[in-house]
Amino acid sequence: MAFKFCSLSSGSSGNCQYIETDNIRVLVDAGLSGKKIENLLLDIGVDAETIDYILITHEHRDHIKGAGILSRRYDIPIWANEKTWTSMEGLVGELKEKNIKIFNTEKNFQLKDLNIYPFQIFHDAIEPVGFCLYNNNTKISIITDTGIVNNDIKSKIKDSSLYLIESNHDVEMLKVGRYPWNLKKRIMSSQGHLSNEQSGKVLSDIISGNGEVVLLGHLSQENNFPLLAYETVKNIIEGIGVNVHKDITLELTHREKVTKVYNF
Ligand SMILES: [Zn+2]
Ligand SMILES: [Zn+2]
Repeated sequence: MAFKFCSLSSGSSGNCQYIETDNIRVLVDAGLSGKKIENLLLDIGVDAETIDYILITHEHRDHIKGAGILSRRYDIPIWANEKTWTSMEGLVGELKEKNIKIFNTEKNFQLKDLNIYPFQIFHDAIEPVGFCLYNNNTKISIITDTGIVNNDIKSKIKDSSLYLIESNHDVEMLKVGRYPWNLKKRIMSSQGHLSNEQSGKVLSDIISGNGEVVLLGHLSQENNFPLLAYETVKNIIEGIGVNVHKDITLELTHREKVTKVYNF
């Protein structure tokens, strides 16, 4: 039995995650050019032609840029909620009717041996979601592009074997950085992005230290450093007595560069 996860790319320049089970291969978001996604897939030995579905979290360009291209090139159905489809119209180009698939937020649906639970997150898109993905007894949670993670979300994503969680910015770097004040305010708001500190706090509330894999994602190129994100989250997690080398695996994702393939 296989349940595999690889982050092909994470960050505001483009998001694309790869999930594989015995019977299915899916992408969560396709926010880079079709060509780039094809090449990143080849880096892990996967032919884009073998992708069964694309799942979309929200309509921002860094999550959908290549979705339409891949759908047309390889006849891949795209799943999103209805409101996201309304906002994506005109952004993904012409699609075959049969490749437009609609899920309901907060409602599980099944694709072959993969069960998917899209849940509401807090971000300035029309109806953004995170995903819990289940295969046999293993759960993977993807949560990026959210200003807050409340207790409701924490209880939904808890007990995952792998978390891809946003660690977008360092608050001090953002505050003194060159972004205009309105954009800074947007990023820091409850509809924006999680800071390193927020990410660490969420993790310290949900991880158990039983060998979970934690991947930090959607790092800002402008307002963060990979090492700073890693150390900030590490320190907060170690504050609750979890050793990030022995008890869990804590790693970073990259922009347009694949992580290793995690197997469960
Ligand atoms: Zn994004
Ligand atoms: Zn976004």
